[in-house]
Amino acid sequence: EEEVLKKLERRIDEYDPAKDEDSMTQFEELPITEQTLKGLKEASFVKMTEIQKKTIPIALKGEDLMSTAKTGSGKTLAFLVPTIELLIRNKTSEYDGLTALIVLPTRELSVQIFEVLTKIGKYNNFSAGLVIGGKDFKFEKDRISKMNILIGTPGRISQHLNESVGLEVSNFQVLVLDEADRCLDMGFKKQIDNIIGHLPASRQTMLFSATQTDNIKDLARLSLTNPRRIGGNTLG
Ligand code: ADP
Ligand code: MG
Repeated sequence: EEEVLKKLERRIDEYDPAKDEDSMTQFEELPITEQTLKGLKEASFVKMTEIQKKTIPIALKGEDLMSTAKTGSGKTLAFLVPTIELLIRNKTSEYDGLTALIVLPTRELSVQIFEVLTKIGKYNNFSAGLVIGGKDFKFEKDRISKMNILIGTPGRISQHLNESVGLEVSNFQVLVLDEADRCLDMGFKKQIDNIIGHLPASRQTMLFSATQTDNIKDLARLSLTNPRRIGGNTLG
């Protein structure tokens, strides 16, 4: 198993987006683990979409990125696959506390992403939880204290991070801001800033949106380090 992971690491290191961008078209060509491939296959995901082809290899390298593509282009797997893989390669277990956070503007979207994660991450050991309110805060807090991946809305995640007892972030690795444009439109800037303030700077951050506004560029400047920009047009 160790050997398999080392081989994957080598393939990831060798990937050069400038040269290799069009070389991988199917999930099984990616340097990812068998368990993730199995989860993808069982959910009938075989060929990658354009944004997945461009985003996943760069994300697997651990780089910060801002990926812009219209609704329906497949952004969910573009961040779920690399997030899961990073956790597997780092042998994440229940003792690691919170290692990944996926922030979405609404409860409905959070539930949707959680369901995709449950499907494709079926063969993995880490745990995932939803943080969307609607339940008693104390109840939610007890349940999520051992989760490795949390998915939820900015307000509720922010609230849990403020009450830091029980949420261990010293092993934190990946922050995903999905539908970042909608999050900002809905007035969640303060909560997102607060979330970022709670997380270690050494993390990987991926920002996804359907549009590229000045607000998004500001958020990118605040949350990303030397980001790769994928899709979209202007790169200011
Ligand atoms: P976006 O977040 O960009 O709006 P989604 O990730 O929600 O897009 O994907 C849109 C639809 O496309 C979903 O129904 C999803 O299951 C499907 N889809 C995504 N990636 C693939 C793929 N590689 N192969 C087949 N269907 C896919
Ligand atoms: Mg989406």
